[in-house]
Amino acid sequence: MRKAIIVSAPSGAGKTTIVKYLLKAIPELAFSISACSRSKREGEINGKDYYFLPLDEFKRRIENDAFIEWQEVYPGSFYGTLKSEIERIWKEGKVPIFEVDIVGGLNLKNYFREQALSIFIKPPAFEDLEKRLRIRNTESDADILKRITKAEFELTFAGKFDRILLNDEISAASLKATELITAFLNS
Ligand code: 5GP
Repeated sequence: MRKAIIVSAPSGAGKTTIVKYLLKAIPELAFSISACSRSKREGEINGKDYYFLPLDEFKRRIENDAFIEWQEVYPGSFYGTLKSEIERIWKEGKVPIFEVDIVGGLNLKNYFREQALSIFIKPPAFEDLEKRLRIRNTESDADILKRITKAEFELTFAGKFDRILLNDEISAASLKATELITAFLNS
């Protein structure tokens, strides 16, 4: 059976760090590169960070049913997973790993069903989530509040994932995630 791994979390719960760790720890995994319609930021590489598509091209591909899932994450900015990306990874004999938000994660699980292991990374407490967001220092106070409100809402979906992983300590959580995924890949 061709498999896939989904890692989702509220913003600031540590999912990027855990996914980077997993990509090193489990050589079978390959990061699934999303397509998006926003413009490239400085330092980003087309085909590595994202497949950057002009909006009309993105919409054309929606019409052609080229996406497993897509979302208008911000008004006018579309993001999604191309079917061709998963085929590319499977052809290489690898297992795609998705780092997506909660809704994206649920949509992917709905598509892959038992082929996918979906993991919800849970921040230990909201106080802690707020601290992490402040340390990251990329968001204003208003944005942090917005993200926490969103995270509270997103936490209500945790039970819809196959596994919930409490991230109270990043290295322990990374190891636990490695164990869960290895067991799933060997099953
Ligand atoms: P950014 O523009 O900061 O790179 O990403 C913005 C948002 O897009 C993030 O919340 C991220 O989770 C979401 N995103 C990235 N790729 C995908 C995707 O393939 N599908 C969906 N639904 N959301 C995505």
